[in-house]
Amino acid sequence: MRFKDLSHLKRPEPLTITLGNLPQHILMAKYAKDKAFKISERVGVIFEKSFEWYGFTLANNDHPELITDIGLPQNDLNLQDYTTLGSQRIAEFQESLPEDVLINGWIHSHGDLNYKHFSNTDEKNHLTVLDFVAARTRKPLAKKEIAIQDLVLLEKDRFVEKDLKKGSICLITDGPITEAKIMETIYGSFCYSIVIGDKGWHEQEIHCREMGILSEHTTVRSQTANIEFVDTGRSLSQDDIRALSDEVEKKIKPHTDPPPELIERM
Ligand SMILES: [Zn+2]
Repeated sequence: MRFKDLSHLKRPEPLTITLGNLPQHILMAKYAKDKAFKISERVGVIFEKSFEWYGFTLANNDHPELITDIGLPQNDLNLQDYTTLGSQRIAEFQESLPEDVLINGWIHSHGDLNYKHFSNTDEKNHLTVLDFVAARTRKPLAKKEIAIQDLVLLEKDRFVEKDLKKGSICLITDGPITEAKIMETIYGSFCYSIVIGDKGWHEQEIHCREMGILSEHTTVRSQTANIEFVDTGRSLSQDDIRALSDEVEKKIKPHTDPPPELIERM
């Protein structure tokens, strides 16, 4: 028995037409960066100790990829690596924002620790934030062919029940056709994660989710990203710093004597 060359039987790659891209690096206004480090500084001054805090990175609807500001929500408990985010908290904060402002990620501080990476708790938070912001950072990335074996083409009002028993999927059209491709939109969403330290270091990642609208085929990936600081013409004024100090005092809740079971180590 001889085998024929089967290479010609390989299914052709599905047709993909690119429509857009998710960000490959992070864009952040210098103002937002200065504000983040100022929060850390104020925490140190006000509480006379360094604490981990978290906030959200904010953008305008017309440019979701550029971080223009930092939003500081009420922090429940500022323990080292106990910054656990819940979608309820994120939703509350989003509701407090103006209509044209969206959350595009989260930022937190590791205080004066020399731990310059994301911890396991942080990894869980990335996904919570991504879940929450996905709908608002979503955009079409591509149209991709859905490879269908046994596609049956039928004509409206001209088929019988027996025809429906054939094939895996049928396409009913209003005229006779002999060939069809089904293309689904692949939507992509992203969120940013930034971790900073009192000494001025920062690390950051982009988390992306892509989903086919029909197949619901979903992929999630995270990548370390560079950050580009952009001068948007806004800078942190003395008034801004005073307002920020009041906010830090109200919203950061250092917990200096946590019950041991609450301490999650990095
Ligand atoms: Zn962390």
